[in-house]
Amino acid sequence: MSLSGPDRIAVDVKSTGTKIAVPPDVAGGGIVARYMVELAEPGRVRTILELTAPAQVQQAYILDAVGDQPARLVVDMISDTPEHFAEKVAADLAASAANQGVPPAALSTDPGTHGSVPAVRPLVVIDPGHGGIDNGASAPNGIQEKAITLAFALDLQKLLVDSGRYDVALTREDDTYLTLNERVALARANKADLFISLHADSFQQSEIRGASVYTRDEKATDVLDKVLAENENKSDIVAGFTMPTTEPAVVDILVDLMRREMRKSSYIAAQALVHQLEPSVAMRRFPVRQADFFVLQAPDVPSVLVELGFLSNASDIANLQKSEWRERVVGALARGVADYFDGMQKQASE
Ligand SMILES: [Zn+2]
Repeated sequence: MSLSGPDRIAVDVKSTGTKIAVPPDVAGGGIVARYMVELAEPGRVRTILELTAPAQVQQAYILDAVGDQPARLVVDMISDTPEHFAEKVAADLAASAANQGVPPAALSTDPGTHGSVPAVRPLVVIDPGHGGIDNGASAPNGIQEKAITLAFALDLQKLLVDSGRYDVALTREDDTYLTLNERVALARANKADLFISLHADSFQQSEIRGASVYTRDEKATDVLDKVLAENENKSDIVAGFTMPTTEPAVVDILVDLMRREMRKSSYIAAQALVHQLEPSVAMRRFPVRQADFFVLQAPDVPSVLVELGFLSNASDIANLQKSEWRERVVGALARGVADYFDGMQKQASE
Protein backbone atom coordinates (compact mmCIF):
# COMPACT_ATOMS: atom_id res chain seq x y z
CA MET A 1 0.00 0.00 0.00
CA SER A 2 1.31 3.49 -0.90
CA LEU A 3 0.77 6.50 1.37
CA SER A 4 1.72 10.15 1.01
CA GLY A 5 2.88 12.97 3.31
CA PRO A 6 5.62 11.76 3.79
CA ASP A 7 5.76 9.23 0.97
CA ARG A 8 5.53 5.75 2.46
CA ILE A 9 5.00 2.18 1.41
CA ALA A 10 3.40 -0.21 3.88
CA VAL A 11 3.89 -3.97 3.59
CA ASP A 12 1.59 -6.16 5.67
CA VAL A 13 2.59 -9.67 6.68
CA LYS A 14 0.45 -12.33 8.33
CA SER A 15 1.82 -13.21 11.74
CA THR A 16 0.83 -15.97 14.14
CA GLY A 17 2.12 -14.13 17.20
CA THR A 18 0.51 -11.17 18.87
CA LYS A 19 3.78 -9.62 20.00
CA ILE A 20 6.55 -8.31 17.79
CA ALA A 21 10.06 -7.12 18.46
CA VAL A 22 9.97 -3.58 17.12
CA PRO A 23 13.30 -2.38 15.77
CA PRO A 24 14.16 1.25 16.45
CA ASP A 25 13.70 3.69 13.58
CA VAL A 26 16.63 3.30 11.26
CA ALA A 27 18.25 6.00 9.23
CA GLY A 28 18.66 4.46 5.80
CA GLY A 29 20.20 5.38 2.49
CA GLY A 30 18.89 5.51 -1.06
CA ILE A 31 15.15 5.26 -1.57
CA VAL A 32 14.30 4.32 2.02
CA ALA A 33 14.73 7.09 4.60
CA ARG A 34 13.81 4.82 7.49
CA TYR A 35 11.47 1.99 8.37
CA MET A 36 9.17 1.07 11.22
CA VAL A 37 7.44 -2.14 12.23
CA GLU A 38 4.11 -2.20 14.03
CA LEU A 39 1.32 -4.60 14.85
CA ALA A 40 -1.46 -3.41 12.50
CA GLU A 41 -3.94 -5.73 14.21
CA PRO A 42 -3.68 -9.16 15.84
CA GLY A 43 -2.25 -11.51 13.21
CA ARG A 44 -0.99 -8.75 10.92
CA VAL A 45 2.40 -7.05 11.17
CA ARG A 46 2.98 -3.89 9.16
CA THR A 47 6.36 -2.67 7.96
CA ILE A 48 6.33 0.97 6.91
CA LEU A 49 9.09 2.16 4.60
CA GLU A 50 9.43 5.92 4.58
CA LEU A 51 10.69 7.07 1.19
CA THR A 52 13.05 9.82 0.11
CA ALA A 53 11.41 9.87 -3.34
CA PRO A 54 8.37 8.24 -4.98
CA ALA A 55 8.88 4.52 -5.52
CA GLN A 56 6.91 1.39 -6.26
CA VAL A 57 7.27 -2.16 -5.04
CA GLN A 58 8.51 -4.56 -7.69
CA GLN A 59 8.16 -7.57 -5.48
CA ALA A 60 7.92 -8.42 -1.80
CA TYR A 61 8.42 -11.83 -0.28
CA ILE A 62 9.39 -13.68 2.88
CA LEU A 63 12.60 -15.67 3.18
CA ASP A 64 12.32 -18.47 5.71
CA ALA A 65 14.84 -18.76 8.52
CA VAL A 66 17.93 -20.70 7.44
CA GLY A 67 20.46 -21.90 10.00
CA ASP A 68 21.15 -18.99 12.30
CA GLN A 69 19.71 -16.46 9.84
CA PRO A 70 16.29 -15.23 10.97
CA ALA A 71 13.35 -15.14 8.57
CA ARG A 72 13.46 -11.98 6.47
CA LEU A 73 11.04 -9.76 4.61
CA VAL A 74 12.56 -8.68 1.30
CA VAL A 75 11.08 -5.71 -0.54
CA ASP A 76 12.48 -4.80 -3.96
CA MET A 77 11.63 -1.25 -5.00
CA ILE A 78 12.24 0.96 -8.01
CA SER A 79 11.83 4.71 -8.46
CA ASP A 80 8.47 6.00 -9.59
CA THR A 81 7.15 9.29 -10.98
CA PRO A 82 5.36 11.60 -8.52
CA GLU A 83 2.24 11.43 -10.73
CA HIS A 84 2.09 7.65 -10.77
CA PHE A 85 2.85 7.45 -7.04
CA ALA A 86 -0.01 9.90 -6.31
CA GLU A 87 -2.34 7.73 -8.39
CA LYS A 88 -1.29 4.65 -6.42
CA VAL A 89 -1.85 6.45 -3.10
CA ALA A 90 -5.36 7.49 -4.12
CA ALA A 91 -6.23 4.01 -5.43
CA ASP A 92 -4.84 2.25 -2.33
CA LEU A 93 -6.68 4.59 0.02
CA ALA A 94 -9.95 4.05 -1.82
CA ALA A 95 -9.49 0.27 -1.78
CA SER A 96 -8.54 0.27 1.87
CA ALA A 97 -11.48 2.47 2.83
CA ALA A 98 -13.83 0.18 0.91
CA ASN A 99 -12.42 -2.83 2.78
CA GLN A 100 -12.56 -1.31 6.21
CA GLY A 101 -15.53 1.03 5.92
CA VAL A 102 -13.56 4.02 7.14
CA PRO A 103 -13.04 7.32 5.35
CA PRO A 104 -9.69 7.67 3.55
CA ALA A 105 -8.72 10.62 5.74
CA ALA A 106 -8.39 8.31 8.74
CA LEU A 107 -5.50 6.52 7.07
CA SER A 108 -3.30 9.53 6.40
CA THR A 109 -2.40 10.02 10.03
CA ASP A 110 0.94 11.13 11.37
CA PRO A 111 3.47 8.37 10.65
CA GLY A 112 4.82 8.39 14.19
CA THR A 113 6.11 10.41 17.08
CA HIS A 114 9.68 10.40 15.80
CA GLY A 115 11.37 13.66 16.69
CA SER A 116 8.99 14.70 19.43
CA VAL A 117 9.57 14.27 23.15
CA PRO A 118 9.18 10.57 23.94
CA ALA A 119 6.17 9.79 26.09
CA VAL A 120 7.86 6.82 27.73
CA ARG A 121 10.98 6.92 29.84
CA PRO A 122 14.11 5.47 28.28
CA LEU A 123 15.09 2.05 29.60
CA VAL A 124 18.63 1.71 30.93
CA VAL A 125 19.86 -1.85 31.48
CA ILE A 126 22.76 -2.09 33.92
CA ASP A 127 24.81 -5.27 33.73
CA PRO A 128 26.92 -6.06 36.81
CA GLY A 129 29.73 -8.14 35.31
CA HIS A 130 30.21 -11.79 36.33
CA GLY A 131 28.26 -13.41 39.21
CA GLY A 132 27.56 -16.80 40.75
CA ILE A 133 30.16 -19.39 39.78
CA ASP A 134 32.01 -16.72 37.78
CA ASN A 135 33.85 -14.51 40.29
CA GLY A 136 35.56 -12.35 37.69
CA ALA A 137 38.89 -10.88 38.77
CA SER A 138 40.12 -11.13 42.36
CA ALA A 139 42.37 -8.82 44.37
CA PRO A 140 45.17 -10.23 46.57
CA ASN A 141 43.02 -9.39 49.61
CA GLY A 142 40.29 -11.70 48.30
CA ILE A 143 37.81 -9.06 47.14
CA GLN A 144 36.03 -10.24 43.99
CA GLU A 145 34.99 -8.35 40.87
CA LYS A 146 31.45 -9.80 40.91
CA ALA A 147 30.75 -8.22 44.33
CA ILE A 148 32.15 -4.84 43.31
CA THR A 149 30.20 -4.65 40.05
CA LEU A 150 26.95 -5.54 41.85
CA ALA A 151 27.46 -2.86 44.53
CA PHE A 152 28.07 -0.19 41.86
CA ALA A 153 25.13 -1.40 39.76
CA LEU A 154 22.66 -1.27 42.65
CA ASP A 155 23.76 2.27 43.57
CA LEU A 156 23.61 3.43 39.96
CA GLN A 157 20.16 1.93 39.56
CA LYS A 158 18.91 3.77 42.64
CA LEU A 159 20.32 7.10 41.48
CA LEU A 160 18.84 6.77 37.98
CA VAL A 161 15.43 5.65 39.27
CA ASP A 162 15.36 8.49 41.82
CA SER A 163 15.87 11.01 39.01
CA GLY A 164 12.47 9.97 37.65
CA ARG A 165 13.80 10.11 34.10
CA TYR A 166 14.43 6.43 33.40
CA ASP A 167 13.23 2.92 33.80
CA VAL A 168 16.16 0.85 35.00
CA ALA A 169 16.65 -2.90 34.89
CA LEU A 170 19.55 -4.99 36.14
CA THR A 171 20.69 -8.17 34.40
CA ARG A 172 21.22 -9.61 37.89
CA GLU A 173 20.28 -8.26 41.31
CA ASP A 174 22.16 -10.81 43.38
CA ASP A 175 25.04 -13.27 43.14
CA THR A 176 23.62 -15.10 40.12
CA TYR A 177 25.44 -16.47 37.09
CA LEU A 178 24.31 -15.36 33.62
CA THR A 179 25.89 -16.17 30.27
CA LEU A 180 27.04 -13.26 28.13
CA ASN A 181 24.33 -14.07 25.59
CA GLU A 182 21.67 -13.98 28.31
CA ARG A 183 22.80 -10.49 29.31
CA VAL A 184 22.61 -9.28 25.70
CA ALA A 185 19.27 -11.03 25.13
CA LEU A 186 17.75 -9.38 28.19
CA ALA A 187 18.64 -5.91 26.92
CA ARG A 188 17.38 -6.68 23.42
CA ALA A 189 14.13 -8.35 24.47
CA ASN A 190 13.24 -5.33 26.60
CA LYS A 191 14.28 -2.91 23.85
CA ALA A 192 16.75 -1.14 26.12
CA ASP A 193 17.80 2.36 25.12
CA LEU A 194 21.20 1.99 26.75
CA PHE A 195 23.15 -1.02 28.05
CA ILE A 196 25.92 -0.42 30.59
CA SER A 197 28.10 -3.37 31.60
CA LEU A 198 30.16 -2.75 34.75
CA HIS A 199 33.53 -4.40 35.38
CA ALA A 200 36.69 -4.13 37.47
CA ASP A 201 39.02 -6.57 35.76
CA SER A 202 42.71 -7.16 36.19
CA PHE A 203 45.80 -6.80 34.05
CA GLN A 204 49.10 -8.61 34.37
CA GLN A 205 50.70 -5.16 34.41
CA SER A 206 49.87 -3.99 37.93
CA GLU A 207 50.84 -0.38 37.16
CA ILE A 208 47.82 0.09 34.87
CA ARG A 209 45.07 1.88 36.73
CA GLY A 210 42.08 4.15 36.36
CA ALA A 211 38.59 4.06 34.88
CA SER A 212 37.83 3.66 31.17
CA VAL A 213 34.79 3.09 28.97
CA TYR A 214 34.73 0.62 26.08
CA THR A 215 32.62 0.32 22.98
CA ARG A 216 32.69 -2.74 20.78
CA ASP A 217 35.05 -3.00 17.87
CA GLU A 218 36.75 -6.04 16.37
CA LYS A 219 39.95 -4.00 16.38
CA ALA A 220 41.05 -3.32 19.95
CA THR A 221 42.63 0.01 20.89
CA ASP A 222 45.84 -1.80 21.85
CA VAL A 223 47.13 -5.29 22.57
CA LEU A 224 46.31 -5.05 26.29
CA ASP A 225 42.69 -4.25 25.49
CA LYS A 226 42.61 -7.18 23.08
CA VAL A 227 43.73 -9.54 25.85
CA LEU A 228 41.28 -7.93 28.28
CA ALA A 229 38.32 -8.61 25.98
CA GLU A 230 39.53 -12.13 25.20
CA ASN A 231 39.69 -12.95 28.91
CA GLU A 232 36.31 -11.36 29.50
CA ASN A 233 34.75 -13.38 26.67
CA LYS A 234 35.98 -16.56 28.37
CA SER A 235 33.71 -16.03 31.36
CA ASP A 236 31.18 -18.46 29.86
CA ILE A 237 33.86 -21.16 29.63
CA VAL A 238 34.77 -20.58 33.27
CA ALA A 239 31.22 -21.56 34.14
CA GLY A 240 31.23 -24.61 31.88
CA PHE A 241 29.42 -23.09 28.92
CA THR A 242 30.75 -22.97 25.39
CA MET A 243 32.09 -19.77 23.92
CA PRO A 244 29.28 -17.44 22.89
CA THR A 245 28.79 -17.24 19.17
CA THR A 246 29.18 -13.94 17.45
CA GLU A 247 26.38 -12.70 15.28
CA PRO A 248 26.40 -14.10 11.72
CA ALA A 249 28.11 -12.04 9.04
CA VAL A 250 25.84 -9.23 8.02
CA VAL A 251 24.02 -9.73 4.74
CA ASP A 252 20.96 -7.67 5.53
CA ILE A 253 21.54 -4.02 4.71
CA LEU A 254 18.96 -2.79 7.21
CA VAL A 255 20.56 -4.75 10.05
CA ASP A 256 23.94 -3.46 8.92
CA LEU A 257 22.65 0.13 8.98
CA MET A 258 21.15 -0.42 12.40
CA ARG A 259 24.42 -1.84 13.73
CA ARG A 260 26.44 1.09 12.41
CA GLU A 261 23.93 3.49 13.94
CA MET A 262 24.21 1.68 17.30
CA ARG A 263 28.00 1.81 17.24
CA LYS A 264 27.82 5.54 16.69
CA SER A 265 25.36 5.93 19.59
CA SER A 266 27.51 3.67 21.79
CA TYR A 267 30.54 5.85 21.11
CA ILE A 268 28.57 9.00 21.95
CA ALA A 269 27.44 7.36 25.21
CA ALA A 270 31.02 6.35 26.07
CA GLN A 271 32.19 9.92 25.49
CA ALA A 272 29.39 11.31 27.68
CA LEU A 273 30.30 8.94 30.54
CA VAL A 274 34.02 9.69 30.28
CA HIS A 275 33.35 13.41 30.13
CA GLN A 276 31.63 13.23 33.53
CA LEU A 277 34.05 10.71 35.06
CA GLU A 278 37.21 12.60 34.12
CA PRO A 279 36.96 15.43 36.66
CA SER A 280 35.88 13.02 39.43
CA VAL A 281 38.19 10.03 39.33
CA ALA A 282 41.54 8.78 38.05
CA MET A 283 41.20 7.69 34.42
CA ARG A 284 43.33 5.62 32.09
CA ARG A 285 45.10 7.39 29.29
CA PHE A 286 42.71 7.64 26.30
CA PRO A 287 39.75 6.54 28.43
CA VAL A 288 37.32 5.96 25.52
CA ARG A 289 38.50 2.59 24.23
CA GLN A 290 37.51 -0.17 21.84
CA ALA A 291 37.72 -3.94 22.18
CA ASP A 292 35.79 -6.97 20.96
CA PHE A 293 33.59 -7.62 24.00
CA PHE A 294 30.83 -10.15 23.26
CA VAL A 295 28.57 -8.58 25.84
CA LEU A 296 28.41 -5.41 23.70
CA GLN A 297 27.17 -7.22 20.59
CA ALA A 298 23.48 -6.17 20.49
CA PRO A 299 22.91 -4.67 17.03
CA ASP A 300 19.93 -2.66 18.25
CA VAL A 301 20.98 -1.40 21.71
CA PRO A 302 23.70 1.22 22.30
CA SER A 303 26.13 -0.66 24.57
CA VAL A 304 29.14 0.37 26.64
CA LEU A 305 31.38 -1.43 29.11
CA VAL A 306 32.77 0.55 32.04
CA GLU A 307 36.00 -0.64 33.64
CA LEU A 308 35.67 1.07 37.00
CA GLY A 309 39.27 0.33 37.86
CA PHE A 310 41.56 -2.69 38.01
CA LEU A 311 41.83 -5.29 40.74
CA SER A 312 45.49 -5.67 39.74
CA ASN A 313 46.38 -2.18 40.97
CA ALA A 314 46.74 -1.33 44.68
CA SER A 315 45.31 2.22 44.41
CA ASP A 316 42.32 1.03 42.39
CA ILE A 317 41.66 -1.82 44.84
CA ALA A 318 41.57 0.67 47.72
CA ASN A 319 39.22 3.01 45.82
CA LEU A 320 36.87 0.28 44.62
CA GLN A 321 36.13 -0.67 48.23
CA LYS A 322 35.44 2.87 49.48
CA SER A 323 31.77 3.84 49.57
CA GLU A 324 32.72 7.52 49.15
CA TRP A 325 34.59 6.73 45.93
CA ARG A 326 31.71 4.58 44.71
CA GLU A 327 29.25 7.43 45.28
CA ARG A 328 31.48 9.76 43.28
CA VAL A 329 31.75 7.33 40.35
CA VAL A 330 28.06 6.45 40.35
CA GLY A 331 27.14 10.16 40.44
CA ALA A 332 29.39 10.82 37.45
CA LEU A 333 27.93 7.85 35.54
CA ALA A 334 24.38 9.07 36.21
CA ARG A 335 25.27 12.56 34.93
CA GLY A 336 26.87 10.99 31.87
CA VAL A 337 23.71 8.97 31.19
CA ALA A 338 21.64 12.16 31.46
CA ASP A 339 23.98 14.01 29.08
CA TYR A 340 23.75 11.15 26.59
CA PHE A 341 19.94 11.13 26.51
CA ASP A 342 19.80 14.95 26.46
CA GLY A 343 22.08 14.91 23.42
CA MET A 344 20.06 12.19 21.67
CA GLN A 345 16.79 14.01 22.30
CA LYS A 346 18.24 17.26 21.01
CA GLN A 347 19.52 15.50 17.90
CA ALA A 348 16.12 13.89 17.27
CA SER A 349 14.28 17.21 17.52
CA GLU A 350 16.63 19.05 15.15
ZN1 LIG B 1 35.01 -8.38 34.21
